Amino acid sequence: MVFTHDTELALQAAVSLVNSGEPPDTLTSVAQLDAWYTGRSYTGRHDRDRAELDAVRALRPVLRALLTSERDRAVELVNAMLAEARALPQLVRHGSFGWHLHAVPPEAPLASRITVETAMAMVDVIRADEMSRLGVCADDGCGGLVLDLSRNRSRRYCSAACGNRNAVAAYRTRQAARP
Ligand SMILES: [Zn+2]
Ligand SMILES: [Zn+2]
Repeated sequence: MVFTHDTELALQAAVSLVNSGEPPDTLTSVAQLDAWYTGRSYTGRHDRDRAELDAVRALRPVLRALLTSERDRAVELVNAMLAEARALPQLVRHGSFGWHLHAVPPEAPLASRITVETAMAMVDVIRADEMSRLGVCADDGCGGLVLDLSRNRSRRYCSAACGNRNAVAAYRTRQAARP
């Protein structure tokens, strides 16, 4: 494990949220948000309405900017996000999760909890000097984010689909180069 479990979950959630905006957009309905919320093991307030969906959708470019910034810019963004949300870190334990940090109450809107969780996760990333774990997909036509939590830092593609497409293209190039 590169980071603590809750930090890795928060980073994975943020990356999956940003990547849901890659065409075709896969976060366009309350039902899709509901599935994402459940799949990402979220707890706490979940309004299941259009306003919540719109707020979460509007977060995507904000999180993309944070996750792809240079370190010094990321520091500014993290501090601004935590200040704006009046984040107050508290150790909590619930469900099957061990002790971890919440910095906003569970009644806070989902979008602000995602923002603060991502900012708190980035605190760990920045302190560990591991910004290079975050990047953009190596596929030429893809803007998806890549979170590389592998031991040997080998992850280059945002998804299996992008990885496979490029493996096939590389294979064809090699075949074509044969005499
Ligand atoms: Zn929690
Ligand atoms: Zn990709």
